[in-house]
Amino acid sequence: MNPTVAPAADQPRSLDELRATVSASRLNTWLACRLKFYFRYVLGLTKPRTPALYVGHTVHGVLKLWNQARWRRQLLTPKALRQQFDALWQNDQQIAPVEWAEGEEAGEQQTAWSLLDLYFRASPIPPNELPEAVEVAAEADLTPHGLPKLVGILDLVRAGGRIVDYKTVSQTPSDAKAIHTNEVQLSGYAVLYRANTGKPEGGRDLHHLVKTKHPKLVVTQQGPMTDAQQTRLFRQMESYAEGLARQVFVPSPGMQCAMCSYFNECKSWS
Ligand code: SF4
Repeated sequence: MNPTVAPAADQPRSLDELRATVSASRLNTWLACRLKFYFRYVLGLTKPRTPALYVGHTVHGVLKLWNQARWRRQLLTPKALRQQFDALWQNDQQIAPVEWAEGEEAGEQQTAWSLLDLYFRASPIPPNELPEAVEVAAEADLTPHGLPKLVGILDLVRAGGRIVDYKTVSQTPSDAKAIHTNEVQLSGYAVLYRANTGKPEGGRDLHHLVKTKHPKLVVTQQGPMTDAQQTRLFRQMESYAEGLARQVFVPSPGMQCAMCSYFNECKSWS
């Protein structure tokens, strides 16, 4: 078996398709820059992944295997986890290329493993805790609110309905900033959880794996979604649906442009 968690390549999608459903990541792209959204989702322009994205992708893939093993009451030894990591690292870049600079890959691979090694030693999740769900695809029909269907994949739901999302970051986050910048995603997951279980989530946690010289684990905890947070999400989804209908694909130049893969395409836009 060749382990892989490679994502499906972006495909061009019709506006009708994009208006019918929305995920938190698609909504975040829309809110950050409508032109970037156009390049990625309407035209389906595929770009090589950056090393930082690939580190996050592989770390996420191994954490998924670790959580799935606990879900099945299986034990993955440190040696088995390392083997899975090495296999994923090799396999997934064959499927979707990564833009490595000369001599960069070995250091990034070591960074990725250091983060995982830390997490397996310091995770607040007891090794014998049975998850409620792992990498579960969910959807919520929001047509009664006049909104697109919300879709998404929950990384992990711990016992008691605590939703966990993993983040690989380069700087140590503050709780307030992490909660604010991940608001769309965390509210989206809460809506998905409630729609599929009929009960409120127990809480929403961000597990940040920080790529500092000495890797760090920072856990940001938040309670269940408030009514105000749900209203904010629904208004953002409303603006998405209305903007798509009007095809408002304008650039939003700002700090995010430094990390944008569509910089050259953007310069030609008029
Ligand atoms: S370079 Fe900036 S303005 Fe242009 S598409 Fe990317 S994020 Fe948007």
